[in-house]
This record gives sequence, C-alpha cells and structure tokens, in this order.
Amino acid sequence: MKKPKIVILGAGYGGMITASRLSKELGYNEADITLVNKHDYHYQTTWLHEPAAGTMDPEKTRMKISEVLNLSKIHFIKDVVVDIKKDEKKVILENSELDYDYLVVALGSEPETFGVPGVFEHAFSKWTVNGARQVRDHIEYMFSIYNNEDEKRNELLTFVVAGAGFTGIEFIGELSERVPELCAAYDVPREKVKMYVIEAAPTALPGFDPELVEYAMNLLESRGVEFKISCPIKEVTEHGVLLADGNEIKAETVVWATGVRGNALIEKAGFENMRGRVKVDPDLRAPGHDNIFIIGDCALIINEEINRPYPPTAQIAMQQAAVCASNLKALIHNAPTKGFKPEIKGTVASLGGKEAIGIVFDRKLYGSSANFMKKMIDNRYLYMLGGTPLVLKKGKNPL
Ligand code: FAD
Ligand code: NAD
Repeated sequence: MKKPKIVILGAGYGGMITASRLSKELGYNEADITLVNKHDYHYQTTWLHEPAAGTMDPEKTRMKISEVLNLSKIHFIKDVVVDIKKDEKKVILENSELDYDYLVVALGSEPETFGVPGVFEHAFSKWTVNGARQVRDHIEYMFSIYNNEDEKRNELLTFVVAGAGFTGIEFIGELSERVPELCAAYDVPREKVKMYVIEAAPTALPGFDPELVEYAMNLLESRGVEFKISCPIKEVTEHGVLLADGNEIKAETVVWATGVRGNALIEKAGFENMRGRVKVDPDLRAPGHDNIFIIGDCALIINEEINRPYPPTAQIAMQQAAVCASNLKALIHNAPTKGFKPEIKGTVASLGGKEAIGIVFDRKLYGSSANFMKKMIDNRYLYMLGGTPLVLKKGKNPL
C-alpha cells in the first residue's frame, strides 16, 4: 500500500511537537513525514522579548532543527511557503511544490495593527530572531549616537511600547532592567531615558488578575516606566506616535505589541477565517477539509465557559500538536480521532531580572517564586523537545 504523505508547515511550537511525536509514534513504513520551515532553525518565540531588549544572546533562543528532530524519519525542507492549494492537495514553496495526503498548518501569527497606519513603516513589530536582533541593535544605536549629536534630541532616548498585553509588559520588563547598564556604557544620564507603555484598554494586562497587574505596574514604574492607560495609539509616524487623546509622543523607537492575527497564508488559501485564524473542528481539522489540520496561532478555539476565543499561546499550540499527531496516527490506522480541549495550567509573565508574576494551578505567584516557575516552564519545553541534553545546552538557571 502507498505510504501517506504528511506535510507539516512551520517549525514553531506546534510544528516541532507534531513532527517529534509523529516520528516517535509512526513506523518508517507507515508514512512519509515532511516538515517545511523558512529557517533551518527553530526558535523560542516565548523568549524573544529578552534578546529584543538585549538581556539575552539571540543564539540562546534558537536551535538547529537537525539537532533536535530525528531527520532519518522526517524529511526537512528549508523553504518559504507561498501558497496552499487545498483543492489540488498541493503546497507551493518559493523553490518547489509538494503534494500531500495530510497537511498540518502551523505557520504561527503576524502582528495585528487594527488598521493603525504607519506600524509597518515606523515601528518594530517582528517577534522573530531577526526582528529581535534588529530591535536590540537599534536601541543600542540610539544610546550610541545621543552624545555624538550637537543637539541632544530627547526622542533618541524615548522608547515607546504599544500595547500592555503580555508581550509589551515582558519586553518593557527586560528593557527597564537593561537601561541602567546602557546608561553607564554610553555615559547617558539615567533621567534622560523615557520609557512609555501605551494601552488602549482601561488596564494593563486586560483580563488578568488585578492584584498581579498592580504588582507589575508598581515594579515597572519604580524602574522609570510610564503607563498611559485607556489611550489608544491612532498612528505611528516617523517622529513617534499620535494618541487618540490628541497628544503626540516623539520617539525614535516604537515597539509594536498590540496582539496577533493568524498567518496571512490562511486568508490567501481561502479558508474561512477570523483575522487569519480558522475555527477548527473539535479534532483540529479545518471545517470541510478532512485531510487538513490547523494548529497553534492559526487555529481558533472557543472557550465555551466565556464564549470567547482562547488567547493564542505556546501552551495551547503544544497541546494541540500532541492531539494532532495522535489524530493523524488514528486516521492512518482507520481509527476514530479525538477531540481537543485546552488544559490551561496557568500563565506566568517575566518582568525582567528576577521578577515575574503568574497564576499556576490557581495559585498567585509574585517576584522570585514566579521567576523560578517561569524558568522551569521554559526548561520543561526544552526537555519535551530534546531531553536533558537540550536543557543543559539551552536551559535557564531558575535561581
Ligand atoms: P510559532 O511558534 O510562531 O512558529 C511558526 C513557525 O512557522 C516559525 O518557525 C516560522 O518561521 C514559520 N513560518 C512562518 N511563516 C512561514 C512561511 N511562509 N514559510 C515557512 N515557514 C514559515 N505563549 C505562552 O504560552 N507562554 C509564554 O510565555 C509566551 N510568551 C511569549 C512571548 C513573546 C515575546 C511572544 C511574541 C509570544 C509569546 N507567547 C507565549 C505566544 C507564543 O509564542 C505563540 O502562541 C506560539 O509561538 C505559537 O506557536 P505556533 O507553532 O503557532 O507558531
Ligand atoms: P494581547 O492581545 O494579549 O495584548 C495586546 C494589547 O494591546 C491589548 O491589551 C490591547 O488592548 C492593546 N492594544 C491594541 N490596540 C492598541 C492601540 N492601538 N494602542 C494601544 N494599545 C492597543 O497581545 P500580545 O501581548 O501581543 O500577546 C499575543 C499572544 O501571546 C496572547 O495570546 C498572549 O497571551 C500570548 N503571550 C503570552 C505570554 C505569557 O504567557 N507570558 C507572553 C507574551 C504573549
């Protein structure tokens, strides 16, 4: 019998765990598994606020795919997906085409602008390894030119973060920790540096525990961060941001973190979607497409208790990947597929240094205990992917 061809698009949390599980659960003769990714490395999206602020070497966030997956069982192709022709069961890559019997779409997200003009032209919005390196280098460049210009321009040392969601808060946590070091290195008076977090909703971290939000805001304010709450940004310009209240903040650095939408290829391929995310069937298949699974940030799952979508997270992407792999195996064995239900174990956000906040198994955590938990969560993922060797190579010291 002909071996079915499984093609997995994207080597993020969803794609890597799907590939890893399939390579362990299926025999050599049961399927041909192909993984496609635009880089030959996998990166930890959840760590990117650290290299972006310059508090971590970007190398630490990434690993060669060949070093963590069994490539004797998975055919890896480094290429960019440009289209999915679902009626022809074909994927178009920049350099070739692939046929599939089963497809897993795990292409992650793109920045959401909600139509605010100027974001892509004037703000940093790429949460990728290359994007993080660019933000880090730009920040350092701002410090380096400040004392070299005849006129001391405050906007060189003004840093705006758009959105006080978890990405914005984690990034400013790292940056506010690093600023004293940058001031010392570039002979810049600390009081010249301004850091703003601008949030449209009536609170930072909307929907999160108010006591933990207050803890985070107090801590960040003590490091010099200024919050502007209930204050949507209406435009990003080459000079900074224009706010809905009519004010302008002049800044040479605007970091965009106002949320995400699914990969644009979802819309291009013609899947029914909401902001690039497909409301998948209970077993994670795209409605009307029995051979296509959609997982991670491209998938939309409704939390029935509140009738709202679950926020897209790595936690959910990994859980979906395990179910997706098991359902692919079931289809190959003509067995029934199973439904997916997220098991939310908690949420922990780092605040820079040894600080963090979180709720884990309904317990609130602050400061060093939350920081310990955050690093253990990061290490747990490495363990799932590459066992103890990967934790030893790339893991974080939780203390
Ligand atoms: P990703 O992990 O983004 O992977 C997508 C992959 O597809 C990438 O390798 C990409 O290169 C590849 N790709 C994209 N387009 C193409 C193409 N056209 N061709 C080929 N390859 C392509 N979630 C948590 O649960 N906990 C956290 O602590 C947390 N922290 C975060 C911190 C930050 C700074 C950010 C930005 C996000 C954080 N998240 C966190 C959210 C989490 O990172 C995402 O939900 C998760 O990465 C989604 O996994 P994914 O597999 O769908 O996509
Ligand atoms: P988000 O949607 O969680 O937060 C974006 C914030 O930007 C919101 O508070 C929103 O009100 C605000 N906003 C939107 N438009 C704005 C505007 N024009 N001006 C000012 N503010 C505006 O998005 P995110 O923080 O990018 O996170 C993306 C996903 O990744 C989420 O699902 C999040 O839970 C997850 N994540 C999790 C962690 C963690 O668990 N530690 C860390 C980072 C991200």
